[in-house]
This record gives sequence, C-alpha cells and structure tokens, in this order.
Amino acid sequence: MIRLKNIEEIQRIGDAGKILAETYTELEKIVCAGISTREIDQAAHDFVMRRGARPAFLNYRDFPASICTSINEEVIHGIPGSRKLQNGDIIGLDFGVDLKGYIADAAVTLPVGKVNPEAQKLLKVTEECLNLGIAQARCGNRIKHISEAIYNHAKSNNFDVVRKYCGHGVGFEVHEDPQIMNYPGPGGNPRIKKGMVLAIEPMVNQGTHDVEILEDEWTVVTADSSLSAHFEHTIAVLEDHIRILTTLDEDNEIGY
Ligand code: MG
Repeated sequence: MIRLKNIEEIQRIGDAGKILAETYTELEKIVCAGISTREIDQAAHDFVMRRGARPAFLNYRDFPASICTSINEEVIHGIPGSRKLQNGDIIGLDFGVDLKGYIADAAVTLPVGKVNPEAQKLLKVTEECLNLGIAQARCGNRIKHISEAIYNHAKSNNFDVVRKYCGHGVGFEVHEDPQIMNYPGPGGNPRIKKGMVLAIEPMVNQGTHDVEILEDEWTVVTADSSLSAHFEHTIAVLEDHIRILTTLDEDNEIGY
C-alpha cells in the first residue's frame, strides 16, 4: 500500500533530509586515504544525534551500524569496520535520518584521492542516472518511467544496473511501497501521484549486473568484482513540481 504524504508531512521529511544532507557535507570533509569506515560511521552517528535526530538504519533489520559503507566492488550494505580507505578507492555511503518519526534516505559515492578515469566515469554516469530518474517522478507518469530513464542511460554508457535491489517509498518507514526498479522489468507499475515520497537509487556496475552477498550476510558485491556506484535522493511529488528533500541546494525544485 502506497502511503501518500500531505504537505506538513513532506515538510517534516524534508527537515530530516536537510540533516542528512548536512551529514554528507561533514562526511565529504573527512573521507580520505587512511580513514577507517568505522570512523566515518561514528562521525555520521554523532552528527545526527547532536541535531536531535537518529540514524534510521542502526539496528534496522539488525544492521549493526549507522551508515552503510561500500568500497569499490561492494554495491550496498557494507558494514563499517577497521578497513581503511586507500587512494583510488571509491566509497558508497548510504544513510537514513529519522527525525521524530519522519525518515529521509540518501546515498552518494565519493572518490578517495585520485581515482582512474573509468571510475570517474562510473560516478558521473550513476549520478546522471539519478537525476534523469528524478526528472521522471512527475504526476501522471508511471514508476517505470523512472526505471527506464535510469536503465537507458546506464546501458548507453556500457554499464549495467543491479536488479536485485531497488528504490522505494519512504517517509514514515525506511522502506515503503512502491518498489522502484532500476530497470524496466516485471512487477507493479503504479501511476505517480501528488504526495508520493520516493527514494530513487540507481546502483550501476561496470560489469555484470549480477551480485552476491558476502558471509557477513549484509555486504552486496558485484559477481565479477567490477566497480559499482550508488547515488540516491529522497524526493517528494507535488502538484506541479518535484522537490528534492535530501539536498542543501536552494534550487531543489524541478517544475513540470
Ligand atoms: Mg534507500
């Protein structure tokens, strides 16, 4: 069941989204060669707690940390630990903020130091996939317009998209309906309506779309160990525009 949000509720989810975007601004300052993923986790945790919010993923389905840290061939759900980042790595950060019961979700993939041109291209194209997907999240379209925009851009750049994980509704819970596939596959295809709040999150791989889960039962990796990138925003569908809720950019509305 898709739970639509009224304008006050969208405002509150946006308040959570603002804290989330501020957290990323802080994390971008500290991500560098030599830092451990546990230190990144601690920084994210402490920042949101100081703002009177809580990390939405901590203990969610028993996830043992505040933020997901996924390095190189890791796609999503990497668990922070003692591993230190190295120059040339890419690191995906996926974080949720719960502000008094209103939840926002966003992800970003950052280069560590200088990364090779192919990795740079993967980051650029994946972020473009996100923006193209968001632009389709307008009243009257269907969810698969988002999926197609993401898929077509990734494929036209000779990348592939992960099929086993997808975007979703968000706001009152971490995961709500509808599912938003990153490819035009099977499943429901509801019409997009005013009041939907959606977490759109392309996961793009340099090689195969196939993924595996490591023995920690969380970390998802590409089956061929190729690099993977992940970008995500929480957005709200309004009557005549789309509002990005997880950005500090003043220019956060896309008119129809
Ligand atoms: Mg998400």
